[in-house]
Amino acid sequence: MSTEAGLPDKPRLKRSGRAPRTGILHLGPGAFFRAFNAVYTDEAMATAGGDWGITAVSLRSPTVRDQLAPQDCVYTSVARSPDGDRPKIVGAINRVLVAPEAQEAVIAAMADPAVRIVSMTITEKGYCHEPATGRLNADHPDITHDLAHPATPRSAAGFIVAALKRRRANGSPPFTVLSCDNLPSNGRLAQSVVLEFAERVDPKLADWISAQVPFPATMVDRITPATTEGDITRLAEEAGYCDRACVVHEPFRQWVIEDRFAAGRPAWEEAGAQFVDDVEAHELMKLRCLNGTHSALAYLGYLAGFETIADTVADGDFSRYCENLWTAEIVPTIPTPQGENLHVYCATLMQRYRNPAIQHRTWQIAMDGSQKLPQRILGTIRDNLEADRVPTGLCLAVAGWMRYVGGVDENGSSIDVQDPLADRLRAASDSATDPEGKVAALLAIEEVFDPALAADPHFREAVVRAYSALAERGSAASVREAAK
Ligand code: NAD
Repeated sequence: MSTEAGLPDKPRLKRSGRAPRTGILHLGPGAFFRAFNAVYTDEAMATAGGDWGITAVSLRSPTVRDQLAPQDCVYTSVARSPDGDRPKIVGAINRVLVAPEAQEAVIAAMADPAVRIVSMTITEKGYCHEPATGRLNADHPDITHDLAHPATPRSAAGFIVAALKRRRANGSPPFTVLSCDNLPSNGRLAQSVVLEFAERVDPKLADWISAQVPFPATMVDRITPATTEGDITRLAEEAGYCDRACVVHEPFRQWVIEDRFAAGRPAWEEAGAQFVDDVEAHELMKLRCLNGTHSALAYLGYLAGFETIADTVADGDFSRYCENLWTAEIVPTIPTPQGENLHVYCATLMQRYRNPAIQHRTWQIAMDGSQKLPQRILGTIRDNLEADRVPTGLCLAVAGWMRYVGGVDENGSSIDVQDPLADRLRAASDSATDPEGKVAALLAIEEVFDPALAADPHFREAVVRAYSALAERGSAASVREAAK
């Protein structure tokens, strides 16, 4: 064991025993994958065996490789609750590749028949689609690059198609593509961007993928904030070793998966995963109840000066606002999934939000709102309008997002808005001085707002009213009003 600079006297975590042989290749080994997919896989292998070790591929930065490689790719997943920490050492990952440094090595690894599943947690923007339509954005710079340079891709779709092309040429069987991102019908979306991309490369390849490659949908749930230096130090003090790749998450977890795999899968059910024929109802419940209120609380909570979701719902107005959203605007739009009770589900969500040990920052959840709003909030608004209800609470959340992407908080300080459309959103917000003009300019961004929704007079009016209230009275007062 070596010692770690910055954390004196603590040896670096190391693997004991052999790493498992590869069966899965995962794109996007961020905090969530390490708190979720890798933990389920570790537990499934421990109980039921199988060569399901994971080759992790970062499509962007080398950070995770640099954290994991010096500790033989083992790391600690810490379940944190007010009762304390439950650390668990996870050994499912056997190597990490960094795609921008080694495109050919990544394609070769994906083309290896030992890889039977390619899973991914690449964030919503990693799909290079148009959030309002779900179609591949053929003008996306990564897609135009990958179509012009298929041997050195940048996008997930570019790598998947290059690897499947090679497998088909080699006579190897295909792999299953398993999307684990927070997107509705994530399997169908992954399939549609991969097929649209393949169609542009070679229509015969697209036909082969369409016939041979399953894209099961999944619903994934475990709140996992970004790891902080404080988390690493606390683990070093409690566990006696330094682990730069550790992840901290809530104890709760839920994984619902469609059971359609080309060449087998780990026995994830041994770790509690639910296998179902159709995941859609679970996905809708989770996206609208959890992610929808998470985003609403993130924008309005940030504007009101709250740093975390737990801080935000500790305020009675914000927790009542959130409960009103569930009762009056969200739950009436969703069918109850088999085995679930929506009222119990939402009550449990509030308990999870209140966990003060989980420091989930409003700023982190507020990131990439242009990619998240359609599936988290706008679909729910559309369903309410179709039922002749104007969901004013969710319209306040949309107005909160509009205030947020304007880039200036309620004290006049600038907001670090992280979003692929950040510049356009800011320009739209700056293009007018009055609430009507700002809202109109933002509603005209078709990647976010379906034109039919943007044109709905009830929706427009409710958003303008909420935006005006936010501008005049601020977020805390607006939420207090909505919580009555
Ligand atoms: P993270 O920031 O730790 O990791 C994000 C990963 O996505 C990184 O590997 C990054 O390189 C990759 N990525 C970012 N932009 C990309 C792009 N344009 N193309 C390809 N790859 C890209 O975030 P995380 O907490 O691991 O969350 C990742 C995703 O997991 C979320 O977007 C969400 O869909 C899903 N998820 C997260 C949570 C959570 O609580 N964190 C819960 C459920 C689901």
